[in-house]
Amino acid sequence: DIVYLNGDWVTGNNAKVSVFDRGFLFADGVYEVIPVYQRRPFLPELHIQRLQRSADAIGIAPITTEFWHQLVLDLINRNNLDDGLVYIQLTFGADSQRSHLPTQPLTPTIYASLSPLSVHWNTPKPVKVAVLEDIRWHRCDIKSISLLGNIMLKREAAKRGAIEPLLHRDGRITEGASCNYFMVKQGRLYTPPADHLILAGITRTWVIQLAQQLAIEVHEEALNVNELQHVDEVFLTSSSREVQPVGQIDDIIVGNGQCGTITAQIAEAFHASKRHLIQE
Ligand code: PLP
Repeated sequence: DIVYLNGDWVTGNNAKVSVFDRGFLFADGVYEVIPVYQRRPFLPELHIQRLQRSADAIGIAPITTEFWHQLVLDLINRNNLDDGLVYIQLTFGADSQRSHLPTQPLTPTIYASLSPLSVHWNTPKPVKVAVLEDIRWHRCDIKSISLLGNIMLKREAAKRGAIEPLLHRDGRITEGASCNYFMVKQGRLYTPPADHLILAGITRTWVIQLAQQLAIEVHEEALNVNELQHVDEVFLTSSSREVQPVGQIDDIIVGNGQCGTITAQIAEAFHASKRHLIQE
């Protein structure tokens, strides 16, 4: 595994970052994850645009779009992996001491790697999720490397035998610890709006477009947790899980516990768009 660190290409074990890096001390940084299918990045423009938005939101000086695109291509060329996930992390950089405000102008630390991805070409088995209160901050729209809240929630979900939490604030559904949610109710698709309480997933954006092409009505509207008893289908989306049907929410079985018809339709359209990318 060859990784990129501040202009160098080294093996993961040999990539070293200063203990004074603001990413290490304060989680003062942002990241991005881009799927790679058959050595081609999936929706790279949207991912790079989101990375630029996250960096801008925390005040890191802009880095060109061309740089990020080239970095993704170089990672693919230097690693012997057909399907994977590109990880890019950008922090404010290393200072000479620990100080809440930087003591001098810093050079951002840029780290990027490509790791394996197991691709599910067929609709996977429905999974269980657990309803939990969203304890995170109010800028979930920034893809921050500070994931403590997300990880605490993921651990709690795991304790309950679930693969992800289904988060809510005062009953209003937000997202998962590392995914977005969609619900089907009377043939309509619902997903919480892309405001500051969720990360606007690229898979989410793509699924909304696919649903519209399939003439499925999409409402960017947060449902309440007490409506979960009455939804027909639930699925979650992320770059690593793609379109994942949910069969159980705590003790509630969703539909008949199997992958619903609209979910299957969208999953198929999603896989078709991947095949299209590969055949281009
Ligand atoms: N929401 C959160 C909190 C995430 O961390 C992620 C991705 O890891 C997502 C949603 C899904 O985003 P994407 O579809 O861009 O992977």
